[in-house]
Amino acid sequence: MGLYRDEAIVLRTQKLGEADRIITLLTRSSGRVRAVAKGVRRTTSRFGSRLEPFTHVDLQLAEGRSLDVVTQAETLHPFAGQIGSDYERYTAGTVMLETAERLVVEDKEPSLQQFLLLVGALRAMCETGRSPSLVLDSFLLRSLSVAGYAPTFEACSRCGTEGPHRSFSPAAGGMLCASCRVPGSANPSPATVELLGALLAGDWPVAEASEARHRKEANGLVAAYLHWHLERGLKSLAHVERS
Ligand SMILES: [Zn+2]
Repeated sequence: MGLYRDEAIVLRTQKLGEADRIITLLTRSSGRVRAVAKGVRRTTSRFGSRLEPFTHVDLQLAEGRSLDVVTQAETLHPFAGQIGSDYERYTAGTVMLETAERLVVEDKEPSLQQFLLLVGALRAMCETGRSPSLVLDSFLLRSLSVAGYAPTFEACSRCGTEGPHRSFSPAAGGMLCASCRVPGSANPSPATVELLGALLAGDWPVAEASEARHRKEANGLVAAYLHWHLERGLKSLAHVERS
């Protein structure tokens, strides 16, 4: 069996047999990897709590026929402890892990940008102390962009006319001008659209100067945009599996 090293964020764990777990990881070099951690549920496990969700770990893995096996794990950042003790961080972080797992479509497809976005978002919440809900919305917009679903908040997403525009449609890919507007579009306030653009660009001075009501409105639009794309992704996946 070949051995390899990588660093990773633990996305999810599932029980396997009596004492083992399957660990879903987002790694720096190999993208999403599912690996077995043997004996990890025993109190005497040499892995301790290092393979809990959110933890940033340095790993040694052995290539297996179906799943790889974790042979060593060292903690790089103990995000699990910093996130588990704070409800707001925990709920935001959980959405980040689930979204990262779903936006990386295939196991072992290198996804360095998604990995860096996830590490950056966890650090921004735990070390920089930024607002978990702003970090979450920024992470979602940027990871959707990396996955090929970049929203537009300035020019019209249909015809490209320079904004600012008044209508937003998840299905159309962002803001729409008055001529391209589709039924059911939202009409967010201009300050909310500015906040969305700042979250996508990672412009923290603008994002952190925003008012609570605009953050709330932005949050709803990001959620709608995310769900529209994830649902469509799932449908196309189901279609592939049927054919
Ligand atoms: Zn237009």
